[in-house]
Amino acid sequence: MKLPEKFIAEADSFFSRHKEVPSEGFYESFDKVPLHGVRLSRAKTCVSEHEELLKVIDPSFERLDPVEWCDGGYYLSEDPEDTRKTGRNPLYHAGVFYPQEPSAMLPAQVLSAKPGEVILDLCAAPGGKACRIGEDLKGEGLLVANEINYERSKALLRNIERSGITNSVILNENPDNIAGRLPGFFDKILIDAPCSGEGMFRRDRSACASYEKYGPDTIVPVQKSILNAADTCLRDGGEIVYSTCTFCEEEDELMISSFLESHPSYHIIPHPEIKGITHNADGTMRIWPHLNRGDGHFCVHLRKGEECGREKVLSGFVRSSKPLKASERRGFDLARDFLSEILTDEGFAKLTKVPFTNHAGGVFLIDFDENLFKGLKVCKTGLYIGDSRLTSSGKSVFAPSNSIALALTREMVKPDRYLALGFNDPRLERYLKGETIQVTEEDGITGNGTVVIGAGNAPLGFGKVGGTQIKNMYPKAWRLI
Ligand code: SAM
Repeated sequence: MKLPEKFIAEADSFFSRHKEVPSEGFYESFDKVPLHGVRLSRAKTCVSEHEELLKVIDPSFERLDPVEWCDGGYYLSEDPEDTRKTGRNPLYHAGVFYPQEPSAMLPAQVLSAKPGEVILDLCAAPGGKACRIGEDLKGEGLLVANEINYERSKALLRNIERSGITNSVILNENPDNIAGRLPGFFDKILIDAPCSGEGMFRRDRSACASYEKYGPDTIVPVQKSILNAADTCLRDGGEIVYSTCTFCEEEDELMISSFLESHPSYHIIPHPEIKGITHNADGTMRIWPHLNRGDGHFCVHLRKGEECGREKVLSGFVRSSKPLKASERRGFDLARDFLSEILTDEGFAKLTKVPFTNHAGGVFLIDFDENLFKGLKVCKTGLYIGDSRLTSSGKSVFAPSNSIALALTREMVKPDRYLALGFNDPRLERYLKGETIQVTEEDGITGNGTVVIGAGNAPLGFGKVGGTQIKNMYPKAWRLI
């Protein structure tokens, strides 16, 4: 492929100054077919199931081929025609896997979120890394996923919902506004920065045109400003992971050395050798497309000062308990009735360990004080359970949100309220298309009422059984066309 001249000059200069990095095969790597990868959700699957699931995801599957630097990450077969179909796969809609370029799996693994931590993903859309962070939190702590671009924040919201993450807030903000509202608040921050995208040239041909137009000179000041906002948001002892998909030193190593110079309390956390990753002497990491099997990527892990405990962060979470209005109590009762109709006692207790909250006219499960985010553009907060509506006859009914189904596991649902559709069952595609489907005796569903429909063991959405028919409750906006 024809690469931008400025990029070639920059790369030639890099390799002449860094003899330790072999240059042979670098330019040729841009003509190779890019590899595809998927990350299987460890919240929704066990490792022992991965081989069987990958056979469903990848029609040309031959053997398990794990991405060395990501738990749950796998390379797909090299047939791009097949792998492009992943967006129609029911397991994708159930949030069982997320298609992700293998190198892009590194930053969230390096961030290594732990249950209970309060984490900010500042440049989060479409959300591959945010979903991984949410998965690592295991429902404890908080993920704040921010995307400055409104259109892109919609994709982020959809992906977070699909992943079943319950303890998240999605913002559509400028990083400076978050810094103004939540200084010193976060334990860890991921900056997967907007960049000149040199590592994307072989995957996305339009990246070359965009590079010619904007290039590193435009983006470097933006990256500096995002790093400064992250510094304000981070508590002392907290960690930042900064990553880009470019080879440009000004956006990578030089960006970090200049940040460290102006912020002397920070230091780089070195990482042990990982196969496939090039570890630089300063502790930063790169993935090179001619040395490894992913696209170009840069990643560094920073700590602000020394680890010093996190009481200050947690104190921001205290919720004030207000007396409930009658209408709110009615909404909560309807939500409780709906959930207890479909969930086992253990499933109900697991989902509702977080309190019900009335928020924006609906019932939510929220484990933190929403006022923390007052003044910021909030797209979503906590888990939306649904809302109560009045029928034409004046009766209150509960309209559940599909996000609940995606936050469940099959074990949380009563066995006779779960319809598991096999991957070869034509009803699966028909359900995802929004059609009415039939239920038979062999399905094990007893009586009428709401059921959870699943792609195998993975819940997708709801349906309402009436006799032998199931009315489709899969959201219109999410249906396959
Ligand atoms: N982390 C994402 C993922 O895993 O799916 C990919 C993020 S992408 C590399 C960079 C994101 O930064 C884009 O979504 C872009 O809209 C956003 N962005 C652009 N300018 C920004 C700015 N000034 N501040 C914060 N984010 C910005």
